[in-house]
Amino acid sequence: MTEKDPRNTLLDLLRGVSLFKEEVFPEKKELFSKLAYGQSPKTLFITCADSRISPELLTHQPPGNLFVLRNIGNIVPAYGTSFGGVTSAIEYAVVALKVSHIIICGHSDCGAMSALIHPEKLDPMPAVKSWLRFAETAHAVTDALVATDIGPEDIQSLSEHNILLQLAHLRTHPSVAAALARNAIILQGWYYDIPRGKVYILDEKTRQDMTVSEAITKLEADIAASSEV
Ligand SMILES: [Zn+2]
Repeated sequence: MTEKDPRNTLLDLLRGVSLFKEEVFPEKKELFSKLAYGQSPKTLFITCADSRISPELLTHQPPGNLFVLRNIGNIVPAYGTSFGGVTSAIEYAVVALKVSHIIICGHSDCGAMSALIHPEKLDPMPAVKSWLRFAETAHAVTDALVATDIGPEDIQSLSEHNILLQLAHLRTHPSVAAALARNAIILQGWYYDIPRGKVYILDEKTRQDMTVSEAITKLEADIAASSEV
């Protein structure tokens, strides 16, 4: 097998599994014994399929804590517009697993967002083109706000409008609407800036970004205030 033999990729994956079995698994044996009998994640983490996003690495969470749902563009079709994997995963997470948080995490340099701006690139990919129609409203909003040439900051703006749009779609799902009515769930939008290693929390009301430290401070104050009542 030569260096460029494509089977090297598979070999690399299999060697990784061996390493997991020999080194990682023994270290976390107790955790995996517990996980063998069920899962009780508190968070549904919806993000893009992009290979650069590693939800557990990004949030420093062990296996079993995040119920992860991924697709191109971290899209959640509004309820009733597309019954498929996304709708059923949300319903399962909220009704069966009773998650108390749903995060929608978009990211920098998202190919899906670029494709919204350059739809001609999607001609050989009719399925992707059709899927991205669920993000079209975010494109329209960004278009209305951005004059001419689209730069990286405008891709960020489009990604953020898309996250806000998908949060709005999420609220149309009956399971989510019911959990919100019971105050049993928190929804939050995140934007992950890959080259800076930073996450921004989107405030849906002000449509502004918060840094993670600002979000932590605000949340700690809210928790302290509610414990005083
Ligand atoms: Zn993406």
